[in-house]
Amino acid sequence: MTAPTIRRMRHELKFRDLTVASTERLTPHMIRITLSGTDLADFASGSFDDHLKVFVPTGDEPAKRDYTPRRFDTEAQELIIDFADHGEGPAASWARDVKSGDTVQVAGPRGSRLIEGEIAHWVLIGDETALPAMGRKLEELPAGVKVTMIAAVPGAEDEQVIESTADVTTHWVHRPLDQATEAQPFLDALPQITLTPNTFVWIATEAGIAKQLREAVLEMGHPLQWLKAAGYWINGEAEASIKDLDAPAGGHGGGMGKGNGKGMGRG
Ligand SMILES: Cc1cc2nc3c(=O)[nH]c(=O)nc-3n(C[C@H](O)[C@H](O)[C@H](O)COP(=O)(O)OP(=O)(O)OC[C@H]3O[C@@H](n4cnc5c(N)ncnc54)[C@H](O)[C@@H]3O)c2cc1C
Repeated sequence: MTAPTIRRMRHELKFRDLTVASTERLTPHMIRITLSGTDLADFASGSFDDHLKVFVPTGDEPAKRDYTPRRFDTEAQELIIDFADHGEGPAASWARDVKSGDTVQVAGPRGSRLIEGEIAHWVLIGDETALPAMGRKLEELPAGVKVTMIAAVPGAEDEQVIESTADVTTHWVHRPLDQATEAQPFLDALPQITLTPNTFVWIATEAGIAKQLREAVLEMGHPLQWLKAAGYWINGEAEASIKDLDAPAGGHGGGMGKGNGKGMGRG
């Protein structure tokens, strides 16, 4: 079995001034914001796990935070971003309070990393911050491809119905938000996945959890080339992530703006 490859696609780094067209509470802990503007006419995002920077207005210097382009339509000039309502943080607070007609700037995606190869089975493991990427993947995959998703959300009312023509099995893990940094609920769900040949495992959770899940999946005998793990946020740190746990230290973990300081390709 030939290992998958990562094809890099570069996009011109563009700053876009957008207007909030609508906001909707998708589930109790997820706020969907639709942005619009002529600047979206040439928006490009090649991979489900791309990210852009949202320049969150704070009254002072904007706070830069990473978000997934959940869905976009260049013709309609619309971009959807789903914000997890995790509590205190400039981005989460902005998403709760923002109104139609408000403006916001976004930048990127600067590039996309397309995971390509003979992938017969996708295993997607993530928390609420990864649900936008996982939802986009389910919508984009061709009919019949096998997908197993393990998604952690606070409760049953936070589960999302995602349209897909793929052959999807979803295991929802329920744990309160104040346990969002605990790996155990995910580890308990792992035996539900079968690592058949040509399975690609994609993980995005809090960084400490992602490290433990990566280890656990490798211990199940899964080859490293068939795995990508990211820390989408770091417990107790603002504006922090590890975009690729296997990127070389200080390397190009896909970060944008903030440097990959501390440790493993932190961006
Ligand atoms: C590639 C990538 C794509 C991402 N896509 C999305 C997306 O589409 N939707 C989305 O909601 N998030 C996404 N995230 C995660 C998001 O960038 C972080 O959750 C970010 O920290 C939120 O900013 P904030 O201003 O609300 O909180 P911050 O100011 O960054 O953090 C404040 C405090 O809240 C904690 N915190 C941050 N996020 C969480 C959380 N989810 N649960 C509990 N505590 C938290 C921090 O540890 C810190 O203590 C993505 C991250 C990456 C790296």
